[in-house]
Amino acid sequence: MTRAPEPPSSGLDTAARMHAITPQTTAVVDQVLEYARRRALYPDVPLDRAMRLADLRRLAGDSIRPDGMGSERALALFEHVLAPACLSTDHPGYLSFIPSAPSKAALAFDVVVSASAIYGGSWMEGSGAVFAENEVLRWLAGEFGLPASAGGVFVQGGTIGNLSALVTARDHARRRAADAERPAPARWAVVCSAEAHSSIASAAAVMDVDVLTAAVGEDGKLHGAAVSAVLDEHADRVFAVVATAGTTNFGIVDDIASIADAANAAGVWFHVDGAYGLAAMLSPASRPLFAGVERADSVIVDPHKWLFAPFDACALIYRDPVPAIHSHTQKAEYLDTLTDSLDWNPSDLAIQLTRRARGLPLWFSLAVHGTEQYRTTIADAISRAKRLADDIRRRPDLSLVREPDLSVVVFRREGWSLADYEAWSDRLLDEQRAFVVPSSHRGEPVLRIALISPLTTDELLGEILDSLA
Ligand SMILES: *Cc1c(COP(=O)(O)O)cnc(C)c1O
Repeated sequence: MTRAPEPPSSGLDTAARMHAITPQTTAVVDQVLEYARRRALYPDVPLDRAMRLADLRRLAGDSIRPDGMGSERALALFEHVLAPACLSTDHPGYLSFIPSAPSKAALAFDVVVSASAIYGGSWMEGSGAVFAENEVLRWLAGEFGLPASAGGVFVQGGTIGNLSALVTARDHARRRAADAERPAPARWAVVCSAEAHSSIASAAAVMDVDVLTAAVGEDGKLHGAAVSAVLDEHADRVFAVVATAGTTNFGIVDDIASIADAANAAGVWFHVDGAYGLAAMLSPASRPLFAGVERADSVIVDPHKWLFAPFDACALIYRDPVPAIHSHTQKAEYLDTLTDSLDWNPSDLAIQLTRRARGLPLWFSLAVHGTEQYRTTIADAISRAKRLADDIRRRPDLSLVREPDLSVVVFRREGWSLADYEAWSDRLLDEQRAFVVPSSHRGEPVLRIALISPLTTDELLGEILDSLA
């Protein structure tokens, strides 16, 4: 009746089947890296498109089951069914929203970040990675004109970056009101323009604070005078003013210096949302557009947008990191000491705890290629946008909605309805030539092309314009 005792090691062997170095696990690693290599170096990556849920269920609905399907079948399922059902956001013809264009160095290094199992939340666990990320943040802070004491963290995206900065600003205002024995307002509020990114309203909703919108000028920019008008009326409940350094729709850079004046005069936190556009400050020709950024209390810029890093990374930088540490640290005993680098924990600067060292792909690419290459590649997109605008101006059936400041070009095809634009857009994607979806401006359908990738050629853009004839 008694069962024969199991050999002592067999239970352990079974449990370790996914982890131990065996011919099987070695083959999995080799196959995956070989696929990643192929995808990263594929000369002519297809644009692809979304697939219907029913089709995906039919083709890939049985992959999770008690027994595994093995790496070859799972990888084939990804390569031949799942990956083609995802748009390639790095395709030179992907021109909607904000495209992605990771450098080869950055995307390859993303694999290394995973393979290295680095915990990026604390200095104690990840000092080497945190140091490298901080080198990048320090370089960016210097470019933006922020003082050497500035510091920050790479978070998941601009939405979390804006939210984390605004929470810091609100808590800072709360503490200052308490210190001055002023009563806290019934409702806190943030001031931004109507053109500010939706993530500001989203942050305000999460924080349960109000958004006060200041009108943009004729030039589409928010100016200090409009901010001052709002502050005059609501000064004691405003905890932050937000300027946008490159709107997502048009790439419009607000009049940052005059907004900084207005915020400073009222003693209010000044945040600059540069998720898309602030990268353009690295191009000497565009730098003057951003005058005033050096006065920000906090700024964000997304490396996954225009700094050629893979998804997902937002650099969140504070002029003074101490208020952020007060707001975001999840362990109260950390609060006092910043002097020793052992206390520099990225987790304490934003809404997060466990974190991937998501700044490392950008660090590696910058270390490999140097900062000058970044300036050149960013400036290239801006000059391509100007050439595209010129081409549009030369064509009688097209008209430019606005002269591009950065790398977003918005224009209309005369006489076309939304249905015309949609049919054209579908055809372009069906032919796998480009992904350009109609956008809208003041209730009117328009086309919007956002340029990030240096592989997007003038020739392709010319063909896209030809197809609108
Ligand atoms: C994209 C964008 C955001 C949001 O960033 P995510 O990384 O998508 O969360 C915020 N502000 C601006 C101006 C943006 O362009």
